[in-house]
Amino acid sequence: MRLRLTFLPFYLVVFISLTSFAYKSVAASSVVTDSSTSNSSFSMPLWFEDFKKTATPRQMYQFLQAMPKGADLHHHLSGSGFSEWWYELGADPTKNGGYTYYTQVSNSNSSCHSDKLSALRFHTISKTTWATLPQCIQQNYIELGLLNENQKRGFMDSIRLHTPSEGREEFFSTHWQRLNELTANPTLVSKILLLNMQAYQAENLQYLETQVNVRYAKKPDGSPYTPDEALAIYTHVLGSEEAIATGVTVRFQYALVRFLPDAEAQLEWIYDFVDSHREIYVGINLVGREDDMSGQPKRFASTLRKLRAKYPKILLAFHAGESETADSNVRDTLLLGAERIGHGLNTIFDPDTLLLMRNSHYLIEINLISNLLLEYVPSYDTHPFPEYLRTGIPTALSTDDRGMFDSTLTDEFYVAVTEFNLSWEEVLTLGTNSLQYSFLQPDIKTQQLALYHQQVAEFETQVASDTVPTQTPAFRAFICKFEHELCSGDKD
Ligand SMILES: [Zn+2]
Repeated sequence: MRLRLTFLPFYLVVFISLTSFAYKSVAASSVVTDSSTSNSSFSMPLWFEDFKKTATPRQMYQFLQAMPKGADLHHHLSGSGFSEWWYELGADPTKNGGYTYYTQVSNSNSSCHSDKLSALRFHTISKTTWATLPQCIQQNYIELGLLNENQKRGFMDSIRLHTPSEGREEFFSTHWQRLNELTANPTLVSKILLLNMQAYQAENLQYLETQVNVRYAKKPDGSPYTPDEALAIYTHVLGSEEAIATGVTVRFQYALVRFLPDAEAQLEWIYDFVDSHREIYVGINLVGREDDMSGQPKRFASTLRKLRAKYPKILLAFHAGESETADSNVRDTLLLGAERIGHGLNTIFDPDTLLLMRNSHYLIEINLISNLLLEYVPSYDTHPFPEYLRTGIPTALSTDDRGMFDSTLTDEFYVAVTEFNLSWEEVLTLGTNSLQYSFLQPDIKTQQLALYHQQVAEFETQVASDTVPTQTPAFRAFICKFEHELCSGDKD
């Protein structure tokens, strides 16, 4: 059993092309005949049990990449960009809508800074903001496109968890603070969305429900976009040929940071905005670390009650229970009216809520890689996911901030299958749940579920006939550390 990840340098993130689909011999030997039916039939569940026993790590990974996966329901768009995407887009005004960015490569004059956050290495700001700074701070910064190779590596490493010393504090206290004004550029972030869609097409995902905020977007000259102007940039990308070609359907949630001083007023604004844009915005999320007591669920009860008197139902998927200690946050969040719970880790310590959620219609969004890297579980031995899955609590796998974790949805399935010995029926339950509990409009949800079942049937037929299309896995850093053999360079 893997206890802790050992971290390897980034250069061990390798991209390996597999020349053949390597589980053919397993498939061929596993076709069974079911005498209870008139047809000679193939049993995918039995095949999968056999496959798990005999597949090499690469064979398993390739299988899981090729498999239809349904949806990713817990996805922060600003946390989903891989480091090289942020760099390539941030450094090139021709790719990012005409913005020039500066990043802090030295803090020799940190005493000039008025606060700790702006003194961070690789704190990245727009040229218009940089121009307003005193000279003693300006000289700490370099234009992002002019970084040397070491600085470029430093920038990219600074926005992903890549060493054992980095964990929860590094993640919550520095990553977004460094990205800073990059996240206020809707042209750049909409390209991160397109890159996600293209990556998900390669992973055979069909629906993405991602958290996208548009309220404080800025133009290249620093002036504000209206929220509608910023949203139009995203919807333009979603309507582009490139986006449509991915076959990935996308809807947005609006995210509220729970501990902001004016969070109630923000929630009121968000309700109104989501109500006015229900075609694209299908829900609201409450995000942010729960150990900040100023963001407790009960804080929002009266505001939500007031808003429910004014607006038709808006679906809520709130983060709750992202904690290694017991509290009542999941229960309190259900009381707020949430349909889905993000993480739900500490529900395991709350028997009444655990019982309430069994065979319920509340789904827990499971983020296995996030939970390990942010140290909410010391190892997968203690993760409650199998208990939830196998006692009838609806669950689905999702990626949270996969750009910063340098991971994929295939990685999440790889961890789940190898750590918890998932059956084929359980794999399909996770995929079905990810669509069934999505916030898609009902008619589109019905279509998406039908599409998923059709794709699964086709995939099973391909497995049975040994004709699954060959894909080229792109192993990211997380999975290389988790399963060294995948990236060792020795082909099967
Ligand atoms: Zn999250």
